[in-house]
Amino acid sequence: MADLNTLNTSEVGWRFDNSYVKLQKTLFSYQKPVPVRAPSMAILNDRLAESLGLNVSALSNQERADIFAGNIIPEGASPIAQAYAGHQFGNFTMLGDGRAVLIGEHLTPSGTRVDIQLKGSGQTQFSRRGDGRAALGPMLREYIISEAMHALNIPTTRSLAVVATGEPVIREALQPGAILTRVAASHIRVGTFQYVAALNDVLVLKALADYTIDRHYPELDQTGGIYPAFLAAMMERQAALIVKWQQVGFIHGVMNTDNMAISGETIDYGPCAFMDIYDPETVFSSIDRNGRYAYGNQPQIAQWNIARFAEAILPLLHSDQDHAISIAEETINRFPDIFKQHWLIGMRAKLGLFNEEAEDSMLAESLLAWMQEHQADYTNTFRALSADKRPQLNDGVLIDWHARWQARLARQEIPKYEVYRSMKLHSPAIIPRNHRVEEVLEAAVERDDLSVMHRLLAAINNPFEERDEYDYYSLPPAKNVQKYQTYCGT
Ligand code: AMP
Ligand code: MG
Repeated sequence: MADLNTLNTSEVGWRFDNSYVKLQKTLFSYQKPVPVRAPSMAILNDRLAESLGLNVSALSNQERADIFAGNIIPEGASPIAQAYAGHQFGNFTMLGDGRAVLIGEHLTPSGTRVDIQLKGSGQTQFSRRGDGRAALGPMLREYIISEAMHALNIPTTRSLAVVATGEPVIREALQPGAILTRVAASHIRVGTFQYVAALNDVLVLKALADYTIDRHYPELDQTGGIYPAFLAAMMERQAALIVKWQQVGFIHGVMNTDNMAISGETIDYGPCAFMDIYDPETVFSSIDRNGRYAYGNQPQIAQWNIARFAEAILPLLHSDQDHAISIAEETINRFPDIFKQHWLIGMRAKLGLFNEEAEDSMLAESLLAWMQEHQADYTNTFRALSADKRPQLNDGVLIDWHARWQARLARQEIPKYEVYRSMKLHSPAIIPRNHRVEEVLEAAVERDDLSVMHRLLAAINNPFEERDEYDYYSLPPAKNVQKYQTYCGT
C-alpha cells in the first residue's frame, strides 16, 4: 500500500456528490471495498480519465493501483453495495452487489453525474456463497467490449481501469484476481425496482422512481401521468439500444432483469460476444443451454424484461390496479412496433437508403436471409457492400438482391460516394472478434503481456475506419475452429 500520509487524493480531481445514499437505507448498505494484498495496474483508460476531469498523471503507478483497487478510498467517496433483485434465466431472486461497491457519484467537468464502481472489490452482505472477487481475464474482457461498444456509438457503461489484485481467485482453475473500475450513468436496474416491489413498500418505490426520473428522464411529457410516461420512455430507450446491438451483431449473453440498466446503457459484460457468421440462433454463453438469450431472441427478451419493470412499478401507474394493468399492457404491446421502427431506421442507414420505400424492410430481410443461408460474415458483408463490392460468395440469389438494391439506390438520387460514405459510418470494419479477444486475454493472463491488448484497443477505438494495419482484426476466424464459447466463471 502507498503511504497514506503522502498521498493527496484531492489532486486527482474527484468531485464526489453522492445522491443515492440519501434514499431509504433499504436500497443499499454502507460497504467499503475489502483491501487486496498487492495491487498493480493492468490498464488505465487515459482518455476516459481525462474526460472525467481526473488527473492521474499526478500519481505514481502504485498510488493509482491503490486507488483503483479500493485500498485507498478517495476523499468524498461514500462506498455502498446496492440492493437489487432479478429474474435470472426467468427465475426471480433477491440479489444485490455481491462483488462490487459503488464508491460514489462523480461530477465530470461538464456536470454529468456518473457512478464510479469497483467490480471485484470483495464480499458484501449480498455475496451469498460468492467470494466477492473477479478474475483478470473477465475484467479485461469487460474493458475491451465496453470500450468497443462506446466506440461503436452504443450507450454503455465504460471501463476506467483494471487492477490486478496480487491475489488468486478460485474458478474452474486458479486465476489471477482483478478489480475493474466501471463508470456508469447509474447502476439502477430493472432489478432494483423489482427488489423494492418485493418489499411491498410503495413509499420507497415512489422515491426510487422519482430519483431515477430526475436522474435519467428529467424531460418526460407528463400529460398522461409521469409514471406511465417513465415506462414508455424507458421502453423506447431499451428498444433503441437493442436495435443498436442487433445492428453490430452484439450478443449480451445474460439479459437477466438485473443486467438491464434503466438509463438505457448496456451493462454487465459477462459471457457476451460479437457474432461472426450471421445466424439469429447464435449463443456463446456456456450457461445458456436453451438459447434464451440468443441473438434473435434479444428483442423479445427486452420486452419481457420491460414487462417485469412495468409490474414492479404497477402501483405507481394508477391507483386502480385494473387500470394500472391496462396502462402497462397497452404500453408493452407497442414494443414490437417501436422496435421495428428503430430497426428500419438502422437498416436503411446500413444499406445507404436516405429516403423511405415500402419494400425497404423486405430488402434488408432478404439480405439477412441470404447471409444466414450462406454463413456469411455479418460485419464483413455490410462492409463489402459499403465499399461497392459484392460479398465474395457470388450466387444467383445474391446477384439478384444486389441488382434490386442498386436499383433502389438509383431511385433516391444521392451520389454513390455519399451513399457509401454514409454506409461506412453505420457498419464497422472492426469489432472485437472473439478469436482476437482470446489472443489478448491469453497474452495478458498467461504471459503478463498487455501489448496485445493495447494493439486491439487501438484498432477498436476507430471501428469505422479501414486501415491496412488493422486488417488483422477484420479477418473472421477460420471456419473449422471449434464453436466459440464464453464462460460465466467471471
Ligand atoms: P452477474 O452474473 O455478474 O450479473 O452477477 C449476478 C449476481 O451474482 C450479482 O448479484 C453479483 O453480485 C453476484 N455475483 C457474481 N459473482 C460473484 C462473486 N464472485 N461473489 C459474490 N457475488 C457474485
Ligand atoms: Mg449483473
